[in-house]
Amino acid sequence: MQVKELLANIRTKMFVGGRFVDAHSGKTFAVFNPATGAEIAQVPEGDAEDVAGAIASARTAFESNEWRRMAPATRERLLLKLADLIEQHGDELAALETLNQGKQFGFAKMLEVGGSAQWLRYMAGWATKIEGSTLDLSIGFPPGVQYQGSTRRVPVGVVAAIVPWNFPLLMAVWKIAPALACGCTVVLKPAEETPLTAIRLAELAFEAGFPAGVLNVVTGQGETAGAALVRHPDIDKVTFTGSTEVGRIIGAQCGRDIRRVSLELGGKSPVIVLDDCDPRKAIEGAANAIFFNHGQVCTAGSRLYLPRSKFSEIVGGVAAIADSLVLGSGFEETTQMGPLVSARHRDKVAGMIAEGRAQGGEIVAGGRAFDGEGFFVRPTVVANERRKPLSLVNEEVFGPVLVAMPYDDIDEAVHAANTSEYGLGASVWTNQLDSALRLTDRIEAGTVWVNTHNMLDPAMPFGGFKSSGVGREHGRAIIDAYTETKSICFAY
Ligand code: NAD
Repeated sequence: MQVKELLANIRTKMFVGGRFVDAHSGKTFAVFNPATGAEIAQVPEGDAEDVAGAIASARTAFESNEWRRMAPATRERLLLKLADLIEQHGDELAALETLNQGKQFGFAKMLEVGGSAQWLRYMAGWATKIEGSTLDLSIGFPPGVQYQGSTRRVPVGVVAAIVPWNFPLLMAVWKIAPALACGCTVVLKPAEETPLTAIRLAELAFEAGFPAGVLNVVTGQGETAGAALVRHPDIDKVTFTGSTEVGRIIGAQCGRDIRRVSLELGGKSPVIVLDDCDPRKAIEGAANAIFFNHGQVCTAGSRLYLPRSKFSEIVGGVAAIADSLVLGSGFEETTQMGPLVSARHRDKVAGMIAEGRAQGGEIVAGGRAFDGEGFFVRPTVVANERRKPLSLVNEEVFGPVLVAMPYDDIDEAVHAANTSEYGLGASVWTNQLDSALRLTDRIEAGTVWVNTHNMLDPAMPFGGFKSSGVGREHGRAIIDAYTETKSICFAY
């Protein structure tokens, strides 16, 4: 698809109650093409009043017979239809993502479009498999009366879904697919940087046959529209993916209001290479773990722990890959890494690299923002041979910045890997089964990979230990996130 044609057809309104709407204030804000820095659209700047309207629409849809009494098999079919529509509009959605988020078109097509269809189809299957249990009660009182109990899982209600900008379409689908499968209705707030595919997603859901108001999209800033969504009394559940900093604010608000909440937050994932691992495999694995999606991945392998004897060889190999990567627009076939999402984020990442350098980290690849237009940062490798307490070791960069450290024995590596407020992902690189099993047991992370990194699947639960979050997405566990257990007790 031509960019010109794409620009001419971009949907730039909020989608509420089955209709495109402006913000009641008439205010808008700009979204950009990060590869050029050019403005591509103005979208409505929703505020508390717009949020209240979208929630009212979701509430009406939730209470309506059309949704509440819909047969689970019909919900399943709607989700499958939405997956088909996403594939049919795959080129358009992928191009929108490349234009607005910066990732390569091929990746957008495979991961955002292909992944979204895959997740929707998996979650569609759950719509017909939500079940409770029957139980014999343990206490018979008064004498002569018997009881039988049963449980049902009922939809939690109106869900507020707030998502970040790194995988705009996929993150939205991670929220809406299970929520809709469970019979909830949703108000989705995309990140202010990347609202375009979420708007199109809601339009496609309506086209698939979801009743008006079942999926609504409000665009706006986090501190206004996002915050209003979280504190609105008619929201039953908040599901949030984003930074730990904002997760704390949302968690505190939900705690005060006794509102259900799931939090998928930040990470600082360790990559531990064992002595027996082929250095070529370690080099390729470590580079993919950090540079995938330009390092803008919550599970990015941003801390590399290497046996001291192989430190120079592996760091040199990863640095050579970093130096070789071609940066550019995601629409160019030669591009291997796109821009970061915004000028603000580029400046933050560049600032953290500068801080790492000032604290004594040795920059062995990259280390600078790109000269010219767009929000580029060269993929960066920092050698921290003396294991100095660099900020880069503890703080999430969310960009293409790797810090590499040597270790002398594996206990030291495990201790260092676990010395983090985060616990989202980790990977271990070894051919020894017993080492792999021991390490997967000892590492404190929601997902531990062996000889791979960043591999996620709709069937595999995903979430964080420690400050990386609360709750799990995907797999069977997701049903708990969007339903309440109701116990029913019969006396006879
Ligand atoms: P962010 O926390 O700044 O923003 C995420 C979303 O929250 C955006 O939609 C934003 O508008 C909204 N928001 C901001 N302030 C808010 C407030 N006070 N109340 C309600 N909503 C508010 O995060 P980001 O910079 O967009 O994304 C990067 C972060 O997301 C990284 O920390 C990354 O690790 C994390 N992330 C986590 C996962 C995961 O599954 N664990 C996945 C992707 C990204």
